[in-house]
Amino acid sequence: GAATGTVTESDALRTLHRVFGYDAFRGEQESIIDHVVAGGDAVVLMPTGGGKSLCYQIPALVRPGTGVVISPLIALMQDQVDALRALGVRAGFINSTQDFDERRVMEAEFLAGELDVLYLAPERLRLDATLDLLGRAKISVFAIDEAHCVAQWGHDFRPDYLALSLLGERWPDVPRIALTATATDATHREITHRLGMPDARHFVASFDRPNIQYRIVPKAEPKKQLLAFLKEEHAGDAGIVYCLSRNSVEKTAEFLCKNGIEAVPYHAGLDGGTRAAHQSRFLREDGLVVCATIAFGMGIDKPDVRFVAHLDLPKSVEGYYQETGRAGRDGLPSTAWMAYGLQDVVQQRKLIQGGEGDEAFRRRASSHLDSMLALCETAQCRRAQLLTYFGQEAGAESCGNCDTCLTPPETWDGTVAAQKVLSTVVRLQRERGQKFGAGQIIDILLGKKTAKVIQFDHDQLSVFGIGEELAEAEWRGVIRQLLAQGLIAVEGEYGTLVLTDTSGSVLGREREVRLRKEPKRAPAARAAKSD
Ligand code: ADP
Ligand code: ZN
Repeated sequence: GAATGTVTESDALRTLHRVFGYDAFRGEQESIIDHVVAGGDAVVLMPTGGGKSLCYQIPALVRPGTGVVISPLIALMQDQVDALRALGVRAGFINSTQDFDERRVMEAEFLAGELDVLYLAPERLRLDATLDLLGRAKISVFAIDEAHCVAQWGHDFRPDYLALSLLGERWPDVPRIALTATATDATHREITHRLGMPDARHFVASFDRPNIQYRIVPKAEPKKQLLAFLKEEHAGDAGIVYCLSRNSVEKTAEFLCKNGIEAVPYHAGLDGGTRAAHQSRFLREDGLVVCATIAFGMGIDKPDVRFVAHLDLPKSVEGYYQETGRAGRDGLPSTAWMAYGLQDVVQQRKLIQGGEGDEAFRRRASSHLDSMLALCETAQCRRAQLLTYFGQEAGAESCGNCDTCLTPPETWDGTVAAQKVLSTVVRLQRERGQKFGAGQIIDILLGKKTAKVIQFDHDQLSVFGIGEELAEAEWRGVIRQLLAQGLIAVEGEYGTLVLTDTSGSVLGREREVRLRKEPKRAPAARAAKSD
């Protein structure tokens, strides 16, 4: 338009106003966009909801040519393209869901320079035909979304991403922008290295989500605890409940419906139509709860998700952060709630030991789980621990908006209790050549003459009944925390307890074991009873 004589808007700002209808850039969006528009490479770490999409969409519109976006989320491409088209952006995608004709039309538009943005799945870059196609058109920018998928030490590695380094080799003059919402220092370095972006500028936004309240409670009766949490704090709110298995997804949704909360299941075992229907209800309706496996939520842009609940332990802190990050994108108070118990640890260890993958893969999965357990068992601020995990400084030692800050857990000297657990494990192994799971160990400590105790003569052990000062739930808490601290380990199909290299230091009284106190009664369980 005609110059007004005062300050002229930059092309980027004009595009923000005219195309997207927003008043101003957020956070570092403007510096990122300016840098890429000027032709520079960028690595962008920004939490979910931070506004990563504009960081490549605007350069794609402002620079001549088509912006090519590499994304692993094939299922979302149609939605993303529809949303852009609704704004008047000429967008398209090429992936395996299209038939030959649809793909041909898209390719023709791309070659004719009629697309502003083209979404591509990473596996397409393995095909010479795709590279040839890209070589025949003008490209304004390459955006590599979910860039952490290139990191082999990350939690979401995809081999196809390794091939993306060729973009920089074949198109040295086209700027590249790599974006992710989850990056520890190690992942961050790996992204830069594997994508071959040594000269990229790095933009690292704060990963703090101050409006999300983090809470992790001991698991007793998880569905009842969940129900109480929802009724007391989130009646009528939209939210996501994550479960590990399809079966528990179904059961939880049923249970909530029976108890007056509208909930639908979402998992990969449902047919595509049902999944799409449940997803679009979630996006459109006000207070729907979706019970889902982790497959749900990636890239879904619903600003008013008021809570994310976990009934099972996520496999990594990255996963936990990503999933909880789907709450409260609108900046309003939201809750990340999780119930977690000893059985989670046993189950996850079993999955790792019995799962596919080589030794290195298992070690990696194990260390991801360890960090997750440390977050669950910490007596410090959860937010501070999360931010430290992502290599960022917490603003304060205490955030005032997580359970450990709101009700600081008492700690106690658990050295003697730890010794009792460990000596029981030692006795069983040395005197009987036996290994047992946590349940049997606790029965022995409590002096319970169960059928299984009698069957194995465990009432004859010198440690039988030496732990009557604690209740069963408290012993579970002790064992969980010993697991989290690496002072004991579980192994095998039955989740039997075994010593670790550091167990000896406890048995030899060389170290004190500090434990957090279990809440006397889980508040949620109390509320559920009064229903
Ligand atoms: P991310 O990909 O980082 O999770 P999105 O790009 O999906 O985040 O953006 C999250 C939400 O914030 C979207 O609804 C988006 O339209 C909105 N948004 C992004 N940037 C701005 C801005 N500058 N002004 C207003 N809203 C914005
Ligand atoms: Zn805190």
